[in-house]
Amino acid sequence: MPYGDAKSNFPLYTTHQCMVRKHLTLEMYERLYKLVTPNGVTLDKCIQPSVDFTGKINGLVAGDEECYTVFKELFDAVIDDHHRGFGPKDMHPAPELDASTLKGGDLDGKYVRSCRIRTGRSLRGLCLPPAISRAERREVEKTISNALEGLGGDLAGKYFPLSGMKPEDEKRLIEDHFLFQKPTGHLMTNSGAVRDWPDGRGIWHNNEKTFLVWVNEEDHCRVISMQQGGNLKGTFERFCRGLNEVEGLIKKNGSAFCWSERLGFLCTCPTNLGTVLRCSVHIQLHKLSKDPRFDAIVVGLGMQKRGTAGEHTEAVDDVYDISNAARLKKSEREFVQLVIDGVEKLIAMEKALEAGKSIDDMIPK
Ligand code: ADP
Ligand code: MG
Repeated sequence: MPYGDAKSNFPLYTTHQCMVRKHLTLEMYERLYKLVTPNGVTLDKCIQPSVDFTGKINGLVAGDEECYTVFKELFDAVIDDHHRGFGPKDMHPAPELDASTLKGGDLDGKYVRSCRIRTGRSLRGLCLPPAISRAERREVEKTISNALEGLGGDLAGKYFPLSGMKPEDEKRLIEDHFLFQKPTGHLMTNSGAVRDWPDGRGIWHNNEKTFLVWVNEEDHCRVISMQQGGNLKGTFERFCRGLNEVEGLIKKNGSAFCWSERLGFLCTCPTNLGTVLRCSVHIQLHKLSKDPRFDAIVVGLGMQKRGTAGEHTEAVDDVYDISNAARLKKSEREFVQLVIDGVEKLIAMEKALEAGKSIDDMIPK
């Protein structure tokens, strides 16, 4: 039982602009603050990022899969708000890991430098990074790296734990966009997800470095397919094949991914639900990126932009990371199709600007 009543435990929100503050009333807190999930996770654990950072964030994390049900009242409100309309009765579509019905997807290599598709997965029964113990984290690492040993052919590869890695190798892998860095974002640091770094963390990749799995970064694992050039369809084909094989191997070893029929795949952050898929291209847009409408165009196409080295970085030499903005409400195939169609439009606009033409009638409404 927590010490004190709900009022004496309620967070001191002052200038906080987060979504948790917007939805968490004292009455709701009163209903939820004494509850614990089967793994012992409390509401206070989940809302800690909302207390320790005042900026515009969601401020909510899950400490285990059951947080999404035990603290449903708050999670559903934040999910509905963040994902712009996803009510308690709405359902995320069934997984669609199938590249065969994609239209197009061989993007112009003059503009598109590389393609990458990632998703996140969590292992059932074990706490998620904000609440995970050292033993559980090592269990996640063991389960995933053992399963990955079962991959063969072009997917055969090797696991490299972060703790045993030479600093120069780590730096090289980060610079080449293959490896994560120690998270510094508010959500991860304030939720406690970065504890014990680098214990239990690592990267698995095939020999070609076109199929990669991150272990215990923001999620139990991130599964990635990437390659140079503009063949996004091929990147998705390998993503689907690899991910299906990994899931099969995990199941064969008696484990399973956290999944809800309503919300899709469940991860640490409730922004990463549904497909948890981010399909991105690195694209060089010398002209369009200088147009004052560039940001609005990207958003209008259902996409988001990041810098050349990912989230919270800047573009170098006008190379942007452009991806689908949403993760929920569409299937994996539909999100990849959205990026193919959106990127084709960006390329058409760039070509028009290169030819000195107006793009006024090409702007998405
Ligand atoms: P996420 O967390 O969604 O996987 P981040 O923004 O944290 O993505 O970026 C992770 C890494 O992936 C960074 O090194 C970034 O530059 C790299 N990356 C993302 N998209 C591409 C792409 N299309 N081609 C090459 N590298 C990419
Ligand atoms: Mg990231």
